[in-house]
Amino acid sequence: MPCISKTEKWAAYHEAGHAVISLEMEIPFSSVAIFPAKDDSRRWGGEVSPVTGHRSRMDRTQEMYYAGWIAEGRARGCRYFVASLHAEDDIENARARFLGMCVHPPTKEQEWVHWASVERTVKRLVKEHWPEITAVAEELLNKKTLTMAQVQGIISEKKGGGA
Ligand SMILES: [Zn+2]
Repeated sequence: MPCISKTEKWAAYHEAGHAVISLEMEIPFSSVAIFPAKDDSRRWGGEVSPVTGHRSRMDRTQEMYYAGWIAEGRARGCRYFVASLHAEDDIENARARFLGMCVHPPTKEQEWVHWASVERTVKRLVKEHWPEITAVAEELLNKKTLTMAQVQGIISEKKGGGA
């Protein structure tokens, strides 16, 4: 299922957030893309295509799902952006992963503490990797689709380029 954002630019930052944090979490993907939404021509969709059959560590996957909204919130200039308020597929996917890891169903308080911690971690990661996320988003706005190898190229150029 694609993620839907209001503008092309926000969609690019959203998907760049997923893609860069995916690689940080060592979760491979085949490609990342943005495209006009099918059902609403004024909105933009985006998607990171998974590698078929790959099983990644569940705890890391939650952070990868969250990273889209956190990166989009930062690009939108929302200082207090709370990802879980956007009840979209990403958050549902993250929650399904979390519940799958729990031996006993968590209480509301336990869930609240858990997501506050995931959100803090992802905000820190997105801040740390903002130059790479920005570079990937800009390239997505140009090319609309990037392979994982192209994203890795942009990241290493950004890291190696320095100053
Ligand atoms: Zn997303």
